[in-house]
Amino acid sequence: MSIAGTQQHDVLIIGSGAAGISMALTLADSARVALVAKEALTESATLYAQGGISAVLDETDSLESHTADTLNAGAGLCDEAVVRHVVEQGPKSIQWLIDRGVSFTREQNKKDSADYHLTKEGGHSHRRVIHAADATGREMELTLAQQAREHPNIELFERHIAIDLITGGKLGWRDNRCHGAYLLDRDNDKVIAFSARAVVLATGGAGKAYLYTSNPDIASGDGIAMAWRAGCRIANMEFIQFHPTCLFHPQAKSFLVTEALRGEGAKLSLPDGSRFMEQFDERAELAPRDIVARAIDHTMKRSGVEYVHLDISHQPATFIREHFPTIYQRCLEYGYDITRQPIPVVPAAHYICGGIMSDIHGRSDLEGLYAVGEAAYTGMHGANRMASNSLLECLVFAESASRHILEQLKLPGSPQPLPEWDESRVTNSDEEVVVTHNWHELRRFMWDYVGIVRTDKRLQRAKNRVDLLQHEISDYYSNFRVTSDLIELRNLTLVADLIIRSAILRKESRGLHYTLDYPDRSQEKRPQTTILIPNNYIRARAT
Ligand SMILES: Cc1cc2nc3c(=O)[nH]c(=O)nc-3n(C[C@H](O)[C@H](O)[C@H](O)COP(=O)(O)OP(=O)(O)OC[C@H]3O[C@@H](n4cnc5c(N)ncnc54)[C@H](O)[C@@H]3O)c2cc1C
Repeated sequence: MSIAGTQQHDVLIIGSGAAGISMALTLADSARVALVAKEALTESATLYAQGGISAVLDETDSLESHTADTLNAGAGLCDEAVVRHVVEQGPKSIQWLIDRGVSFTREQNKKDSADYHLTKEGGHSHRRVIHAADATGREMELTLAQQAREHPNIELFERHIAIDLITGGKLGWRDNRCHGAYLLDRDNDKVIAFSARAVVLATGGAGKAYLYTSNPDIASGDGIAMAWRAGCRIANMEFIQFHPTCLFHPQAKSFLVTEALRGEGAKLSLPDGSRFMEQFDERAELAPRDIVARAIDHTMKRSGVEYVHLDISHQPATFIREHFPTIYQRCLEYGYDITRQPIPVVPAAHYICGGIMSDIHGRSDLEGLYAVGEAAYTGMHGANRMASNSLLECLVFAESASRHILEQLKLPGSPQPLPEWDESRVTNSDEEVVVTHNWHELRRFMWDYVGIVRTDKRLQRAKNRVDLLQHEISDYYSNFRVTSDLIELRNLTLVADLIIRSAILRKESRGLHYTLDYPDRSQEKRPQTTILIPNNYIRARAT
């Protein structure tokens, strides 16, 4: 395998979803940016976001109300200052997208009107979710990607997967800041050292740690794992959001059915037609998604059914086709006409509230390293993310982190020349079967033992298994050549370990973490964020 030189830029952005791509565009007029995606540029969770983006855009709504709803969903663990910051910046972020040409759905029959159609989702007390029909993420990602491709200051590196961050400490230098990252060029099978004055982790979530997930394959928690190995603190990993309604069909691969459907009146029932949500929450189908997911999980287990039904067929067919064209079309492909019949649905891992600890400027613990989007823990979501608040968080933090980086770039300095990747110790291996087997095992036990309902015993079982897997993978990793499958498995196993350790530490049920051993919320006046500290953290902080 060839060893291939280095690349130097002002800013290295790893990840090209909502967070990474909007940062690239914000920075590129003043800085040389490398924008990296491990698959094609647009392949990301962002591309599949359906519902929309929440922001206060209507005079009947208020910043106070959006803040209160977010804090309420977060179950006492949000950082209120962060929530206020994000909510206040919301309208500006939406305007930024509109100025960039992102086309949101307007009020019906008012094509020339300035009024955008706002929808309502679980946990929101107002209609405040702006959307592009039911394919908001797609409209946004494709529009921004086109501009990134055309920008002369943005160099794109598609199908390049980051392996690890390069810190001064690791190189034996006096400083311990982040200087860049090693990336595997997947098509040419070579590792390149990327050097930059600022490095951004915008790598998204980690849904692939679970057997059933709404996330695309790229969601393997790479950024979280890289940051941990580099000495950064990771917070609140136990709070995994399970989306209540993914299409249940062997070929659908967890196709998500947006909760905007429930916002527009869709009802849940058992296959025999009996409704159940009122038994769990007075808001019924409009309760926050953790309550709905748990209610479905409980109902499925109690009645032994494989799925429940979701039905919006009482709405006029034209309304359904116009507001939910993607879902209508996809369900039709699988044999369900949602204008006339209910569809079978199950819950699936959807969003991780925890991640790399970062401040209001997106700064992580390591100098020169920023974390934005789903990979970051900012304090916005607390113990539970409110629907459509995550794209908003991506956009607002992309802007604040960009501003901070531009200030830093005004100071004297340049990207450091970095040593090339050392491959001397490793050999080729064709044992892909080991990787596939370990991956499947991990996702299965995470689903069974660290899923919607947890217990101490199940978590301990999961911990024993993840320890074994980590041991095996570390042995494998140090002896064989890196491949993207091995990189992802190594990261997912580490992220699974962080999720399990965090879940074991939380001796209460709160927000998205529900355990039968401690079914109530602890009465502590100031509930704690779960913070995991790596062994090399002190060194990372010392500089
Ligand atoms: C089906 C679905 C529907 C959703 N609907 C909504 C919604 O309506 N509203 C809302 O607010 N939120 C929604 N969410 C959540 C939201 O889409 C995500 O939280 C958000 O898009 C995350 O954006 P991101 O930029 O952080 O990461 P992503 O969009 O996931 O992008 C991650 C990027 O990182 C790259 N990457 C990852 N690892 C590496 C590596 N090692 N090397 C190089 N590149 C790497 C990937 O290639 C990709 O480019 C939805 C999520 C899903 C899955």
